[in-house]
Amino acid sequence: MVERDVIVVGAGFTGLTAARELIAADKDIVLLEARDRVGGKVESTVLSGGTRVDTGGQFFCRDMVELTSLIAAQGRKPVMTHYDGETIYRPPISQKQGYERWRGVDALRDRMIATRPDDPELEKLTVADWVARQEDVSADVRKSFLRLIKGLWCRSPEEVSFAWLASNDRRITNTYSEMEMFLPETVHAVADTLAATLGDRLKLNTPVTHIEHSDTSVAVTAGGERFSARRLVLAVPPVMIHKLDFAPALPERLLHALGAWSPGLSIKVLVSYDEPFWHKKGLSGAVMWHEPQGLYACDASRGDYAGQVIFIGGPEAEYWHKRPQEELVDFIREQLTAAFGPQGGSARDIYIRDWVNDPWSDGAYSDVVTRLDAPDTEDILREGLASVRFASSELALSYPGYIEGAIIAGKWIAHEIVRDLDAGSRKVNAG
Ligand SMILES: Cc1cc2nc3c(=O)[nH]c(=O)nc-3n(C[C@H](O)[C@H](O)[C@H](O)COP(=O)(O)OP(=O)(O)OC[C@H]3O[C@@H](n4cnc5c(N)ncnc54)[C@H](O)[C@@H]3O)c2cc1C
Repeated sequence: MVERDVIVVGAGFTGLTAARELIAADKDIVLLEARDRVGGKVESTVLSGGTRVDTGGQFFCRDMVELTSLIAAQGRKPVMTHYDGETIYRPPISQKQGYERWRGVDALRDRMIATRPDDPELEKLTVADWVARQEDVSADVRKSFLRLIKGLWCRSPEEVSFAWLASNDRRITNTYSEMEMFLPETVHAVADTLAATLGDRLKLNTPVTHIEHSDTSVAVTAGGERFSARRLVLAVPPVMIHKLDFAPALPERLLHALGAWSPGLSIKVLVSYDEPFWHKKGLSGAVMWHEPQGLYACDASRGDYAGQVIFIGGPEAEYWHKRPQEELVDFIREQLTAAFGPQGGSARDIYIRDWVNDPWSDGAYSDVVTRLDAPDTEDILREGLASVRFASSELALSYPGYIEGAIIAGKWIAHEIVRDLDAGSRKVNAG
């Protein structure tokens, strides 16, 4: 006798959304989360000065209508990211050169998006292979494009599948900057508010380790307890699904599809100052590093808090993950001094959140496809098994890798499960 309709595993935005939608459809659910908090890759901390800040997902824009609607429904008001003023480029170049470089990168991105999704030649290429073929584009723009991949997708372009990246980027359709705004009280507070509606259906500190499944039911072992249900939603990133133990074992096609993903490598650094001194200098606060690659800073000041966020992505994050954090703090001070002068190095506080090898997400901002022999990995994972389904921001049909994508994925999987439960059974590819 199964206890419930659905077990949802993972209380990130995908799992929280799926849980709420399933409850709204009158399904009996439990949400199991490994950590002692909800939010997954959205989390927050309180800095020494008392300000609560996002240490994971933070920014969004008005095109992301699921997230902005949710924020509005919770009565929250975003603040706009400070963009006015000049960007600093490292090594230094003029504003005009910087603008032209970015126009070139944008054009290359458009060219990538315009490639034919069904071109079998492209499936054999890494991003670095494809960029090397764009011989009519200047070396500077090509290098900047590769830097963008390291910074945004947080892996080396020599590893990332070109066909996957093009497909992924086609689904990120915002016209406003994705860093247009953020929430003063943190976007993590949005997750907390969602969780507060779940009552004892939410179980924290309950990591799922073992999953038994048949065509009609599932039983999971989690935190020493056993839970059973008619369906299971694994709302965790693909690399984390791959670490779970299934009985019977997952079919080869699913193992192959899961093995195509690698975690992004990223470190988020929050730098606090006594005042946003760069505003008075006519600077936006943004710093774009051409060297070292994969480094980007932007202003995250609001109200009486003055601060910068620095993102470190890809091989640079992998390097710093292996070094003592004090060395990274010194490196950040050096970089900020070189960019802004002595005031840049006079930060009051430097807080580091290293997501590389995180125990429950393995990395960030999202998993990326680093194998070239699994072009249909997303379709296979979206299909799942008769009673076990997979959902995460990575698998979202729109805005994959973003909080918006996680909400979209959560709504999608809840809709699928409700339809499936109401129909009574589900047929999937048995291969
Ligand atoms: C540093 C950083 C900056 C980012 N910046 C932005 C941004 O500015 N804007 C934006 O839109 N997005 C950003 N993102 C990405 C965004 O946060 C994610 O895409 C999104 O939150 C993913 O949600 P999810 O629910 O799909 O997965 P996750 O958030 O990874 O949730 C999965 C959950 O499953 C749990 N879990 C894993 N394994 C188990 C298990 N065995 N048993 C039980 N529970 C388990 C995890 O603890 C986690 O809570 C950022 C991410 C990071 C880390």
